[in-house]
Amino acid sequence: MTFSRTITAVVAIAFGGAIAAGSGHGAMAQSGPGAAPSACQMRLSSDRAVFKPLGELGGPAGCGGPDVVHLERIILADRTEVAVEPPATLRCEMAEAVVTLVRQDLAPATATMGAALSAIENYDSYDCRGRNRVMGAKLSEHGLANALDIRSVRLKDGRVVRPADAGAPREFRVAMKTAVCNRFTTVLGPGSDGYHEDHIHMDRAERRGGYRLCQWDLHDGGARIAAAPSGRAPARAGFATMPVPLPRSRPFAAAAAGDRAIYLPAESRH
Ligand SMILES: [Zn+2]
Repeated sequence: MTFSRTITAVVAIAFGGAIAAGSGHGAMAQSGPGAAPSACQMRLSSDRAVFKPLGELGGPAGCGGPDVVHLERIILADRTEVAVEPPATLRCEMAEAVVTLVRQDLAPATATMGAALSAIENYDSYDCRGRNRVMGAKLSEHGLANALDIRSVRLKDGRVVRPADAGAPREFRVAMKTAVCNRFTTVLGPGSDGYHEDHIHMDRAERRGGYRLCQWDLHDGGARIAAAPSGRAPARAGFATMPVPLPRSRPFAAAAAGDRAIYLPAESRH
């Protein structure tokens, strides 16, 4: 598949600010390669990101979503760019949330480490699979192109910082945790369930009552949670900041995914 174009800030300028600033009602709800940009794409391309529109993505078992984009780079206010490595395949509105996160929160937060932000590592984005790679489970938000896993960020001076690493600068981890939990409805990191010890999962799942899930233990001196449960869910380290009933311990299903074999409870949505 080839993509006919890459929308950049230049395109946004060509279309003018009126559409980009619009509310998004109605106009251009669907657009892929060669089609008119959606309202979301127009907002995204207003000097904020470089991406390719993919249009509506379909897949087996309900995978995919409307107005999906391939997010390559995020343009900061000072015109410098932050790469998404590798580019992430996300619903446009999820991509927009990631762009806002990077521009408003992560880029400023990296300044506390003495160097500008250069890239974020996309550990997983669109991935047509059941929740937690469990056969027969409901579709993961990854399968809906509505989730992103970030494992590391890279600074301009070459340093690579893993936010899930308790040894990473605490101020940055606190800032990132606060930001992602404000901007996404599901956040899973270290201490959440034993399966997110090396990356941060974020998605925009909608729940009854507007409940949000923010589970990321910063591990400041506390015991680390074992990463390889064999029969029961590990303790959650008392870290649920939102009033969401956590999955009960259930029999685990196992699924191997190369070097990322994981064992996950059937309910937590990752
Ligand atoms: Zn994930």
